[in-house]
Amino acid sequence: MPLEVVEGPEIVVGAREWENREWFPPGPQLAICLSGGKERLADLTDDELLQVAAAARRQTSWAQARELAAIAELTQRRTSAEADGDPDYRILSAHESVTEEVAAALTVTGNTAATLVHLAEQLTGPLAETGAALEAGRVDMAKARVICDITDSLPDQVAQRVESAVLEKASIQTAGQLRRRIKRVVQRLAPEAVEERKREAVRQRRLELWETAAGTADLALCDLAPEDAHAVFNKITAAAHGIKADGDTRPLNLIRADLATQLLNGAELPTAVQVLLAQAEDAEPSAPTPAQVPDDDNGDTTDTTDTSDTTVTALAALLGQRLAHLRGRTPAAELPAAVDQAVHRLTQRFAQRRDELCQGDDDQHGRPGYRPPASLRREIEARHATCVFPSCNQPSHRCDLDHTIPWRPGVTCRCNLAPLCRRHHRLKQTPGWKLHHLWPGLLVWTTPAGAWYIIRPDRQ
Ligand SMILES: [Zn+2]
Ligand SMILES: [Zn+2]
Repeated sequence: MPLEVVEGPEIVVGAREWENREWFPPGPQLAICLSGGKERLADLTDDELLQVAAAARRQTSWAQARELAAIAELTQRRTSAEADGDPDYRILSAHESVTEEVAAALTVTGNTAATLVHLAEQLTGPLAETGAALEAGRVDMAKARVICDITDSLPDQVAQRVESAVLEKASIQTAGQLRRRIKRVVQRLAPEAVEERKREAVRQRRLELWETAAGTADLALCDLAPEDAHAVFNKITAAAHGIKADGDTRPLNLIRADLATQLLNGAELPTAVQVLLAQAEDAEPSAPTPAQVPDDDNGDTTDTTDTSDTTVTALAALLGQRLAHLRGRTPAAELPAAVDQAVHRLTQRFAQRRDELCQGDDDQHGRPGYRPPASLRREIEARHATCVFPSCNQPSHRCDLDHTIPWRPGVTCRCNLAPLCRRHHRLKQTPGWKLHHLWPGLLVWTTPAGAWYIIRPDRQ
């Protein structure tokens, strides 16, 4: 949704503060709006409730930015007061000492405090833009951490270039989407730093053990070279498949866990399993590479001169405007239906132009048959790297290509196909939810609360 900063919001206590406010900046005034009694939530519409939740989250980000700013200021005081000259190893450095102050004051562990101090210094220093975005509620703490983590070992200048490349879209991405995007950008801007970081991590490889909430324990080999980890995993999986084929009816996960435990315990394995393991070893041609997220990052040049891109941008803007206008003047109970109709009408209005675009030279709209041909599938997957639900990360090659309007004989076309994972395929069938396809690759979800999410082909 568009982020629009409202200057000096007026506060009318008792009135509906949320009306017409897509974006209300965090700070003292928002705190007042949010602090109405709980019973008042019962008076709000579904749409308003979601806006309250989003506003409270912005307010949290703002408060977290203040927390970090205070820590940064204290750290700055302590370190600048530290005596120059050779460090005295009998005492803590100013940095270590302030970390202990923070740990005691906030009742957190030393590790957590060290992370906070580091984050505070980064977000008030080299990553000040991210700090400002956190304070303005445009990104939350999880995303600020992601930006800080992945740029950590990079020279400040490179970190800042990465930051400005990813920050704008960060507000409409989940932390996971943002993480993948930053990794791609870093890979492009500083490939040697990425390699070095990986080598350094492998040098810290280790076996870890921890207790879980269920009273069980997890055992993990951490920071292995990926080819080693995959080789072990594939070998055990192959043997487990063999055991299953031999008549073991337990789920594969269980067989794998028991087999791995037995192997690590040095227990004598049944001969059949030994044979299977030996076979698995022989059958393994080479260590497979880790699953790759498709690289759809075309160098931040998402706005190409392609005319259909221009159409997408214009259509998305038109739709956004129209729906925001609608939200301002529609009674809550009627909003979901009104939003849905508005999207539908706009889709109809552009249908003819869309069909002309699809027909191309051969005067045919779409292709016969239900299943899209491989070339069309590739085109759709390139257009959307993941499932088209806004927060979903399922890679499109693992999704079904859904006919947005249920298939009728004759039309399988780019203007009616989009990747949907199983879960969001079911969501699309759920009452209150609808998915519209306005233009090839431009989709709109409408929700039971009357909210909407515009999915553009280049949203990553
Ligand atoms: Zn079409
Ligand atoms: Zn999905």
